[in-house]
Amino acid sequence: MSAYRLLFLGFAMLSSALGLRAEPTPGKRAVTAGEVRATPEEPGIAFNSVHVDGPYIAMTFDDGPSATLTPKLLDLLAAHHIKATFFVIGENVAEHPEIVARAAREGHEIANHSWSHPNLGKMSDDSVRRQLRQTDDAIKNATGKRPTLMRPPYGSITTREKRWIHDEFGYDIILWDVDPYDWKRPGPAVVRARILKETRPGSIVLSHDIHPGTIEAMPSTFDELEAKGFKFVTVSELIKMAAARSSHPSPQPSDNVLPNAVGSPSPTPSPASSPN
Ligand SMILES: [Zn+2]
Repeated sequence: MSAYRLLFLGFAMLSSALGLRAEPTPGKRAVTAGEVRATPEEPGIAFNSVHVDGPYIAMTFDDGPSATLTPKLLDLLAAHHIKATFFVIGENVAEHPEIVARAAREGHEIANHSWSHPNLGKMSDDSVRRQLRQTDDAIKNATGKRPTLMRPPYGSITTREKRWIHDEFGYDIILWDVDPYDWKRPGPAVVRARILKETRPGSIVLSHDIHPGTIEAMPSTFDELEAKGFKFVTVSELIKMAAARSSHPSPQPSDNVLPNAVGSPSPTPSPASSPN
């Protein structure tokens, strides 16, 4: 083989390798009812869970606010002195800004979950930008503060989107490592059992404050998580703990921390019909 051909072959192999590393587009594997793309983490930008020294976890509630269920949940959280994070839908914020304002006033974190819950991984940048901007504005109007986190509906987002969204909005992209599949409405006992089984220090627990069974599951779920020694913080607080931890590398062993770190596996793909 001539040197020229070798050179050409090398170039072809390199470009194909580069092509393989590019983010697979969601179109490659059509998202149909019953499946969704897994979403890999991006260190420092996207989190499924967080590496922390201590029994800290973040409870997250998506797709609200709900006119009836979110106030009930806020009462429960207040009774337990628990701070949670709400990934809200812009449309719902516009409809019930007073509920979002109450949640923020009571110390909960309000974060962006898009305007109308579309599959961001399949949309143009401009459409994604509108979804996030409108919701960002609605949250600012309701609470006086802009959010710093977003969660893509269905966990569907490309690596490229994660980067530009992070650059443009300053958002961290928040996924989850505990999923009780509460949107399938399996009943409060199952929701509770799944959360209790999977939650580790640093976990980000996904559920939805738009399903009655989820709200019903929460009092005993909170009781039992507390009994196990878990402490509840917002997602931003959890991330800050990880940052503080990595900027102070300590020599003491941290065997009490379970291997549930940034860089851990993606969340189990969940059906596209999931209102995550
Ligand atoms: Zn959702």
